[in-house]
Amino acid sequence: MDETPKDAPQDAQDADAARLLHLRQAQLPKGAPLALPLTLASMFQLPGEPAPGVPGYGRADNPTWEALEHMLEALEGAPALAFPSGMAAISAALFATLRAGDRLLLPSDGYYTPRTLASRFLERLGITVDTRPTSGFAEGGFAGVRVVYIETPSNPGLDLVDLPAVTEAVRSAGGISIVDNTTMTALGQRPLDLGADILLASDTKAPGGHSDLLMGHVATRDPDLLAAMRDWRTLSGGIPGPFEAWLLHRSLETLELRFDRMCTNAEILAAHLDAHPAVQDLRFPGLLTHPGHALAARQMRRMGFLLGFTLPSVEAADRFIEACPLIAPATSFGGVHTTAERRARWGDDVAPGFVRLSVGTEPAGALVAAVVGALDG
Ligand SMILES: *Cc1c(COP(=O)(O)O)cnc(C)c1O
Repeated sequence: MDETPKDAPQDAQDADAARLLHLRQAQLPKGAPLALPLTLASMFQLPGEPAPGVPGYGRADNPTWEALEHMLEALEGAPALAFPSGMAAISAALFATLRAGDRLLLPSDGYYTPRTLASRFLERLGITVDTRPTSGFAEGGFAGVRVVYIETPSNPGLDLVDLPAVTEAVRSAGGISIVDNTTMTALGQRPLDLGADILLASDTKAPGGHSDLLMGHVATRDPDLLAAMRDWRTLSGGIPGPFEAWLLHRSLETLELRFDRMCTNAEILAAHLDAHPAVQDLRFPGLLTHPGHALAARQMRRMGFLLGFTLPSVEAADRFIEACPLIAPATSFGGVHTTAERRARWGDDVAPGFVRLSVGTEPAGALVAAVVGALDG
């Protein structure tokens, strides 16, 4: 059987998405609520000896997290652990795998906070940190690198890494590959099926989807890596709050609906932006002119909901963002509302007028009219 999920027929993908909605209900006794109850608890009734699978203390166990992780496991096709933010998931993956004397390789142009974490805290623990641009990530090979951190498509440049080729090269060099799948979600790309050892994502973005929570998760099929990341969570104390876990569980029930609309809107909008004279250097993996388009078509199920493009100046970019009634000026991405920002304001290595647009769930016709109207204006 071909395990490559890209090749999984649409009906199989639809069946998975439908099953996700009925996961909880399938196990319920008569009279139980269909909706997940929120368990706010630090203590649990615990007479006699502690037992595996019985909640004992709230830093180690919580039934709301477990329900969320059950859903994440079904989504990712692998055991998953929930964390209070994407960075908490990233910290768990790095601290669970690295030791003094190891080398860590990070993208030089992806999400910037892992680089800051590495230079501020990992280097002084004796870890050597190297960086490399996402385009050409495999150049130079992976010999001597303990952990290779991959982000594809990268945020904000939307450059791609060939996941089957790179994860295989990392494995044969004796390293561990970690893939940040935040920009795609499990519905758009399946890094574990494409060879990654650890998958992680910020659920603050599309999985949460309503700009009201921060969460993250890791998933892996390696039981030792899973146990190490669970221990990191319990011992560092960086645990999710039950309420955020509950909100994310609720959000996951509509992820497929939102993601589908967002990706379709992005495709429609990309065609209009591509044809607009004010727009330069449009980046979207779905465009035939994107340098990674053929790779995207091989390893991604959808082309995502992020677009990057350059307007002539800082002023033109700010004017566009402020003039469009269907764009909220905000950082972060993946929400139901279309949002945009000039990434140079955070020091990303992009043109001053570079805009990252996160396409939301607005009806396509209204969105196109508002965006093109603001560009024309
Ligand atoms: C936002 C983001 C993160 C960090 O997630 P938080 O939930 O903000 O901690 C990590 N990776 C990528 C690609 C991101 O966009």
